[in-house]
Formats: sequence, structure tokens, C-alpha cells
Amino acid sequence: MNSQGKKPLLGCIADDFTGATDLANNLVRAGMRVVQTIGIPTHTDIGSAIALETADAIVVALKSRTAPIDEAVEQSLSAANWLQSLGVAQLYFKVCSTFDSTDRGNIGPVAEELAEVLQAGIVPVCPAFPETNRTVYKAHLYVGDVLLSDSSMRHHPLTPMTDSNLIHVLQRQSKGKVGHVDHAVVRGGSDTIRERLEALRTDGTRFAIVDAIANDDLMTMGRAFASMPLVVAGSGVAIGLPQNFGISPSESAAQLPRAQGPRAIVSGSCSAASNAQVVDFIKRGGEAFPVDPLRIAAGNDIVGEALHWAGSRLSESPVLFYATAAPEAVKSVQAQLGVEHAGELVERTLSAIALGLVERGVRQLIVAGGETSGACVQALEVQQMRIGPQIDPGVPWCYALSPAAGKDGLMLALKSGNFGTVDFFTKAFGMLP
Ligand code: ADP
Repeated sequence: MNSQGKKPLLGCIADDFTGATDLANNLVRAGMRVVQTIGIPTHTDIGSAIALETADAIVVALKSRTAPIDEAVEQSLSAANWLQSLGVAQLYFKVCSTFDSTDRGNIGPVAEELAEVLQAGIVPVCPAFPETNRTVYKAHLYVGDVLLSDSSMRHHPLTPMTDSNLIHVLQRQSKGKVGHVDHAVVRGGSDTIRERLEALRTDGTRFAIVDAIANDDLMTMGRAFASMPLVVAGSGVAIGLPQNFGISPSESAAQLPRAQGPRAIVSGSCSAASNAQVVDFIKRGGEAFPVDPLRIAAGNDIVGEALHWAGSRLSESPVLFYATAAPEAVKSVQAQLGVEHAGELVERTLSAIALGLVERGVRQLIVAGGETSGACVQALEVQQMRIGPQIDPGVPWCYALSPAAGKDGLMLALKSGNFGTVDFFTKAFGMLP
């Protein structure tokens, strides 16, 4: 049973994997017990700690942000159907805090179809999360002190953002009208926001961009959104919704079953943070096995070598397997193998190592890298995870079942690129019960 009854209260659809974890992490901090699923699970782990009926909120992780529009809509509608069949009271469509999409992007079409199915009337839209420097003022999105269009997002390879006016951005993607709830209205309190939304609804407006420049604004708008069937937001608005269900922050929301056993780290991220974390781990005396993409490409059995090396080393002291390399080294490999091919080879190898490690008894595993995490979760056949305590902002420990881990399950921490302090690979294990 969840805190309120037998049904999950909040159903969330996230347009990418790490965004889903970020949202789930915020919901847990706000007191909800959360299960995150990878797509729509085909088995539901009845009776286990990650069974859906143990959750206040369910977050479905999709890979729809840059998918063709039809596919993104179809995936999102299937997820919405499934969540509705579980009896959720409200749906949350989680988009990126920088509102990543092209003009032909997916946010508008997906949100419009969801609104149609839910007969949502007006839909509030707010990507702000002031705690992580994303604010919305006069419907313009800021990243720290600069407008979105002046931030590095301007040059993003897949979803360049050159317009900071969210009314314009969303209007270009939507058939329905896009309106605005000004910050002055938000400061007026929940009732004032509700009145403004109602006025916009009566006026035939479909979406309302809602301003927020402080976390307090998210709490206020959260209360105003209590009876909205659909909310479109970054991960920030999540902190304001649990209060509507009588839920407040509590440590028990993050409690996970114990998973004892050897510890390991697999790192395929080449971000600056991951490079520093690998160096720090080795400097502290941690044992590490380097994975060289050129040796994989030359046909060497790197997985076999890595698992043989792991052999007697698997214990309470974590061991690291890393393809992580500095930018020049990565560029040189990419020039020789091609960007995609290099990425694929490394992901395949690291995920096979992760699977082999779990088959050999590892039960506490950190994976660094967004794509690398996706590949490892797939290799381990993880379909759903219970979200536990936060290690660093955006990165919680999770408890997952995997056929390779048997009935006891395993602890997973999936860290995307630039997340985590320099000692992440050491301190994370110290945070487990
Ligand atoms: P991040 O979250 O930091 O972006 P990802 O795992 O999403 O990390 O992406 C890193 C990509 O780089 C993956 O496709 C990975 O396989 C690839 N990669 C890792 N190490 C190397 C390397 N030494 N040379 C080339 N590509 C690499």
C-alpha cells in the first residue's frame, strides 16, 4: 500500500532517462515513495520492494526527446494509458529544464495529445527549477544569469535553443493557444494563480507558461495545480505536488532494502567531472581496469580480460572499470573509429562487463555516463527501480531487480556526465546502509 491508499497518486512521463531519475529524486525528497520504470514494464515484481503498489508516484522513463514526433506521441500516450490504468490522480509530463526541443519539437505535440486524452482544459507549463539555476520570468527562460538563447544551449548539437520566449517556442509547436501566468500573479498566491488559469481556460487557451524565480514559487504553484489533470514541467515543480496529497518530506520515503555484496564502478562518461572522479578514485588507492576502445576494435576479448582481472578482487573495496578519457584522447579514438562506432563499442563492452560483474556477485554498482547507464540497465534487464537517498543533486541510489542478481536485487547509482563531487566514487558507497 502507498501512503494514501492502494493506487499510486502521481503518474509521470519523462522524455529521457536521466531526466526521469532527476524527477524521481525530487519526488522522494518531497516525501513520496517512487518507482521508476524503464518504458512500460512487462513484469511488475508483485510483492517485491519495487512493486508498483508500494509507490506514491511512478515515473516512466522514455527516450522520446529527440524521437520523431509520431513516435514520441505514441510512446507518451501508451505510457499515459498505462499510468491511468493504475489509477493515478494526476499526470506529469517531465521535459528538460532548458525546454530542449526544436521548433518542430516534441513538447507541444506530446502535451497536446496528452491534454486531449485527459480532457485537461488548461495545462500549466513550467520548466523552472531555481535551485539549479533555471528560472522563468516574463515567460523567458534563464540559465543562471543569462537568457537561454545566450547560454551554451544555443549550440546544442541536437536541440539548439535560440529563442528564450517560451510562449513563442511552445506556440510554434502547438495548435492550441499559449498564454502566460505572470510572476506577479504567482506571488499573489495559489488562489490568484488558479483564477488566472481559469480565466485563460475560459478564453480558450490550451497552455499557460507559469513564471517562477524561487523554489517558493514552485510550492505556491504546486498548490494551485492540485486539480489539474496534466502538468508539463521540468523536475522542479515536483517539489510542490506531494503536499496536495497530504505528503511531506520524510526520510522513510528514501528507504531501500539492504543489498550487501561486492562493489564496483563502470565509467563510460568522458565529461570533465567523470575524468576528475576517476583520477580521484585511483589517487586514493582504488584498483582500476582501463578499457581501451582501440584494443576492443582490434578484436581483443576485453570483457574476458576485465572479468578475469576482477576475479579475486571483488569485495567491499570497490573496483573501477573505465573507458573515461581526456578530450584529446577521445577525439583521437573517434577520428580512427568514427564517433558512433567508438561509442557503440565502448557501451557494448562496458555493459557486458557490468553484467559479468553482477553475475559474479557484485550487488552495489555505480555507472557513470548517461548513454552508458542506458546500455548497462538494458544488459542487466532492469525494468523498474525503487528510488532511494540522494548521493549528490540529481543522483540517487536505486534498488533494482535483475535476473543476473537473483532475488536479492542490487543497488544501482546511475550518474550522468557532469554530476557528482570529485570523490563521488568513494563517498557514494559510504552512504549505503
Ligand atoms: P555522459 O553522460 O558524460 O555524456 P555518456 O555515457 O552518455 O556519458 O556518453 C559517453 C559516450 O562516449 C558513450 O557513448 C561512450 O561509449 C563513449 N566513450 C567512452 N569512452 C570513450 C573513449 N575513450 N573514446 C571514445 N568514446 C568513448
